[in-house]
Amino acid sequence: MNLENRYYYEEGLIIDRRKIGDGDLILLFYGKEKGKYWVKAPGALKIKNRLRGKVEVITFGKGYFVKRKELDLLINWEVIERFIDIKKDVDTFIYVTSYIKRAEKFLPEGVKDKEIFDLLYSFLKEVRKTNTNILGDIFLIKLWQKLGFLPFIPTICAKCGKKLNSNEKLLLDIKDYKVYCLSCNNLDMEMDLEVINKYNEILIYDFKYIVEPNRIVDFEEIKNLMPILIKRIEQEV
Ligand SMILES: [Zn+2]
Repeated sequence: MNLENRYYYEEGLIIDRRKIGDGDLILLFYGKEKGKYWVKAPGALKIKNRLRGKVEVITFGKGYFVKRKELDLLINWEVIERFIDIKKDVDTFIYVTSYIKRAEKFLPEGVKDKEIFDLLYSFLKEVRKTNTNILGDIFLIKLWQKLGFLPFIPTICAKCGKKLNSNEKLLLDIKDYKVYCLSCNNLDMEMDLEVINKYNEILIYDFKYIVEPNRIVDFEEIKNLMPILIKRIEQEV
């Protein structure tokens, strides 16, 4: 490996960090070019270190790295966006980091994915503009969809083929992502068709479009599906 190849620049988000040893940090980074990976920020907690106070969780910036066999080293970090609005309110910060943590588990390491980067970034940007707590759920659904976990749920009975009406209850089989009319099955997971329609709409539209302040309020019902969906997806991984 020649010298030029040992160093590289990468823009990305710091999404988690851990303290190790004597004043060092390990950072979980989501880069535009390299996806998710851990890096070491040597001495980042030490006084007079150039990284001190800059490498916060939930920060967008440009890093200068040196390649290492184990963890690459972060040599310099130029902050582009601090997401102050998230950090100035403890509840918002906890809310955001809990969703990022939940999402992060599903992201494969070292796989470039510009759409995932954009989704993470949009989630952080949109949090400040909205005061509903379903933003995080919509973020998770979009993420799982991009990772190939979530299909559309058909709104016709999987047994008799009946098209379900908007004021009708249906039975959801979350294991196979199918629905049944009330006379065709005895599953106990009763759900309004409207919830399934909203779920399908989330899959259809872009994250930024859905989370517009005047539009996201129409998606509140997705709350009824979320616990079931989370259980289903977290079983799979
Ligand atoms: Zn039926």
